Amino acid sequence: MTKIMAITNQKGGVGKTTTTVNLAASLAVAKQRVLLIDLDPQGNATMGSGIEKRDLEITVYHVLLGTKTIVEARKKSETGKYDVLPANRDLAGAEIEMVDFSQRETRLRDALQLVAENYDYVLIDCPPALNLLTLNGLCAAKSVMIPMQCEYYALEGLSDLVNTIRKVRASLNPVLEIEGLLRTMFDPRNTLAQQVSDQLQAHFGSKVYRTVIPRNVRLAEAPSYGVPVLYHDKASKGTQAYLALAGELLNNAAKSATSA
Ligand code: ATP
Ligand code: MG
Repeated sequence: MTKIMAITNQKGGVGKTTTTVNLAASLAVAKQRVLLIDLDPQGNATMGSGIEKRDLEITVYHVLLGTKTIVEARKKSETGKYDVLPANRDLAGAEIEMVDFSQRETRLRDALQLVAENYDYVLIDCPPALNLLTLNGLCAAKSVMIPMQCEYYALEGLSDLVNTIRKVRASLNPVLEIEGLLRTMFDPRNTLAQQVSDQLQAHFGSKVYRTVIPRNVRLAEAPSYGVPVLYHDKASKGTQAYLALAGELLNNAAKSATSA
């Protein structure tokens, strides 16, 4: 069954896009068929996948408006070996243009039905806001991955997000669950980071991924070359961490398949 995951956190700059791009590439290396959906008008995941956002005629914007299908809009990431439903700044207008649409929260879910079974994983990179685009991501997804930095205000933001997920589950998408919390840009020498990490584990237990993403400059450099870190510096700590995260997800999926 296709795993459809929204990578989301309304807080900006926590590593959503870095996680989406590098997890997509790491799952593709493990022979998984992956579709990355860029739901952010910034188009960072599109560019990080080696696709020039300014040259695109058809994007996720047209899919949400219903004028094009995902089959018409998707592109291949030559540098990451997965498919991309790309975005650019056109998407910023979608929210207003969809105001009068009925069922405007489920446009992505409906469009995805056409292609979902061609993929093992669909990863949705959400913008840093709890807006209609993110809601479309949460309605299309079966689970949510929450990247977060272990800093003072992180837990507060997290409770807002958990409340939103509860509301979406109650009204729009009853199957939605938290897939896991991912500690990003982690520095084990930072005492506060360690404390927040301990609190996270105390609150969320096994929902916190064992894999931790360290702060690693190679991860920050790779987008400027339009490649996932795996193809920028294979031996880097960033590469190893995202390969480990892909391994953890595949292991979890195998375990739940045998227990089902
Ligand atoms: P936004 O909310 O704007 O969409 P985001 O949550 O998608 O941001 P990213 O764009 O992935 O966050 O990361 C923010 C910045 O931090 C980027 O410059 C990225 O290259 C850098 N970065 C992300 N993860 C790491 C890491 N583990 N080590 C070092 N730099 C990182
Ligand atoms: Mg982003």
